[in-house]
Amino acid sequence: MTKQYKYLYGPVPSRRIGLSLGVDILKPKTCTFNCIYCQLKKTDTLTTERQSFFPPDEIIDEIRERITVDKVKTDYITFSGSGEPTLSQDIGVIIDGIKEFTDIPVAVITNGSLLWKEEVRQDILHADLVIPSLDAALEESFHKINRPHPALKLDKIKQGILDFRKEYQGQIWLEILFVAGINDSGRDLDALLAFIEQLGPDKVQLNTVERPPLEKNSLALSSRTLHEIVNKFSGRVEIAGESGRKIDIGDNENLTPEEAIMEMLRRRPCTAIDINSTTGFGRDIIVKALDTLHEKGSIIKEAMYGKEYYRIK
Ligand code: SF4
Repeated sequence: MTKQYKYLYGPVPSRRIGLSLGVDILKPKTCTFNCIYCQLKKTDTLTTERQSFFPPDEIIDEIRERITVDKVKTDYITFSGSGEPTLSQDIGVIIDGIKEFTDIPVAVITNGSLLWKEEVRQDILHADLVIPSLDAALEESFHKINRPHPALKLDKIKQGILDFRKEYQGQIWLEILFVAGINDSGRDLDALLAFIEQLGPDKVQLNTVERPPLEKNSLALSSRTLHEIVNKFSGRVEIAGESGRKIDIGDNENLTPEEAIMEMLRRRPCTAIDINSTTGFGRDIIVKALDTLHEKGSIIKEAMYGKEYYRIK
């Protein structure tokens, strides 16, 4: 049986960046937002205060072991997970620690809400790729979709992302997630487009609700509407997961099927097909393991858009 890591998950295939070794440096669920579409649970700790959640050396040691001893194959080492990763005041030290033993690029997936803090911008300056999100460029829509900590103001967040663009030499891919009727009006799109033009990101990725969201009334945009938005935005805009990139999953590294499933579901709801393609276990084995976990009460099933998702209870 392979060692279970405390701070790492995967590598998992990501729609945005290929195969990704996830690093989770927060206590679940700690975030500056409580987004209506979040795939995790409701935010337990809504905060803008940074802190040290776990000893950074322990985290660096795990990553080092996974890369240099297990020799896992991954396209990126990615900070993401149980909330907003820049809430950890250790993220800069950990990124620099990773750079001492590997050339594998480091990505930070952030909601961008703390980039107005100079120390946050400094901390992630050595990452190779930063994916900030900005779902709304109008204050009213921002509050409806992201439900931020009361101290956060949209203008300040936008300025923080713009300041980071000026200081940072790596790639910035802006992500926008649309929820039907919340941030997809003509005014919303015009304001988002104006922000994109001001920012000049290397790429813009559009997304919509695909997995069971926190609020059940968070509805997806149709594929047609998303493509209309792509046309309106033009240039470096794509729909996440439509870049045509193939992901090589590798082996399942000797986890049992139940362990592999729980590892994936710790991060997000998945279908049996997601689990099958990620873990490399055959479909029958996955179905049987899902049934076992479901009977034990470890996981629950939820239907959405004609698909059956599993999530940890
Ligand atoms: S979607 Fe991301 S930013 Fe929004 S509440 Fe969930 S973890 Fe936080």
